Amino acid sequence: MSDKQNSHLVIPERIQIEGVFACNASCIMCPVHAPSERKKGVMKLELFKEIIDKLEPYKEKINKVDLWGLGESLMDKKLHLKIKYAKEKGFKGLAIATNVELLDEETAIKLFEAGLDTIIFSIDGIKKETHEGIREDLNFDRVRENAERAIALRDKGGYATRFVVRLYARSAIMMSGKRIVSIGLHVFLKIKKILLFVTMYTYGVVKLRTWERLKKCQKFQLKFHATIYLTA
Ligand code: SF4
Repeated sequence: MSDKQNSHLVIPERIQIEGVFACNASCIMCPVHAPSERKKGVMKLELFKEIIDKLEPYKEKINKVDLWGLGESLMDKKLHLKIKYAKEKGFKGLAIATNVELLDEETAIKLFEAGLDTIIFSIDGIKKETHEGIREDLNFDRVRENAERAIALRDKGGYATRFVVRLYARSAIMMSGKRIVSIGLHVFLKIKKILLFVTMYTYGVVKLRTWERLKKCQKFQLKFHATIYLTA
């Protein structure tokens, strides 16, 4: 690409790379199992490396790399290799989000060793019935055990990985009308070493006028965030 073309490039501060489009859970608010023309699966390591190589010249402008999309990150058995590759190339702010069910000891250590900066736990309550009522097909006791073990391993090994807990505020759901949009509202709380944020999805009829305005904002949003889907 020429310098002139390069000067017009918009490089987002935050890049999201969808490593997995599939999930071992069925959460009540999630469309992952809805019919889709997109093929389910895991992004190949070679493709991931190719994406990272192409982004490398712009890495100073990229502050965060989110390694998840619509799916469970830990279904990718080569995730630690992807993280290692991106870290070695000098990318910062690497994060995954996980429902924690597959976070066994070996996986946790591999992620820490690879240099992962952030793990976001999706845990929706301190009671079994609350969590399992939202995150169907998951076992709260195993999720809790996995999360607590990972934190202990991180502390014992002195790894730099930070943990964030994300909650889904079910009570905030309101549904009406046929046209629906979700708006995420993140509330951040810092409790000891763990950052907690609550995602509230509110639903409602969106007037066309508002939607048109949102579309006009897309160019502006691209400066901050771009998503690369599974097949790139
Ligand atoms: S764990 Fe995540 S990707 Fe899987 S069903 Fe729940 S919200 Fe969707």
